[in-house]
Amino acid sequence: MIIAVDGPTASGKGTVARAIAARYGLPHLDTGLLYRAVGWQVAADGGDPDSEADALAAVRFADDLLGHPELRHEATGALASRVSIHPAVRKALFDRQRIFATQSGGAVLDGRDIGTVIAPDAEVKLFVTASVEARAQRRFREMQGNGVAVTLAEIESDLRRRDERDRNRSEAPLMTARDARVLDSTALDKDEAVAAAIAIVEEFRPR
Ligand code: C5P
Repeated sequence: MIIAVDGPTASGKGTVARAIAARYGLPHLDTGLLYRAVGWQVAADGGDPDSEADALAAVRFADDLLGHPELRHEATGALASRVSIHPAVRKALFDRQRIFATQSGGAVLDGRDIGTVIAPDAEVKLFVTASVEARAQRRFREMQGNGVAVTLAEIESDLRRRDERDRNRSEAPLMTARDARVLDSTALDKDEAVAAAIAIVEEFRPR
């Protein structure tokens, strides 16, 4: 069973995807991490994230980079959003994601285009979303907890910028697959969002 979990930044899709993977004993891939690794690598190489050639060269990052704590930083997320608009970068990362999705026994993948491009054949498609204000609040609390000096307004404007870029790029834009179920987590806490996601999986999973 392939489970696709898509949605915008800080919507809670990662939390939901990890919980589903644990519940059903399935391997999980956070595909955002691949784009973050490319973004981090292009900066480390002194390249330009807006140049398709520089970003494509950075696709050859070393696998152990995926565990680097800086990949989780906001600055790396912003770089990821810039490199992810290049069709050549998306194409270069496609096989890796497709192989993960189609492994025997199934898998859970979260990202922006899992239900639309990587695994249009997924048995279960979830689109996790929340208002930009709710997402900014969550991210703000998380960053304050980590001692990062940032304002709520800065986070909110960064989220809006990334939403805009993810939704309006020509290649694999962030969109809800026609057959995806939308889970709006604005008014839900983490446990409620996970419970709602599992109820949707139960409804759709083949038996
Ligand atoms: O999900 P996360 O915030 O880690 O993703 C970082 C960036 O990578 C996103 O803003 C998006 O531009 C890009 N991305 C993508 N396709 C995916 C996953 C992430 O374009 N499947």
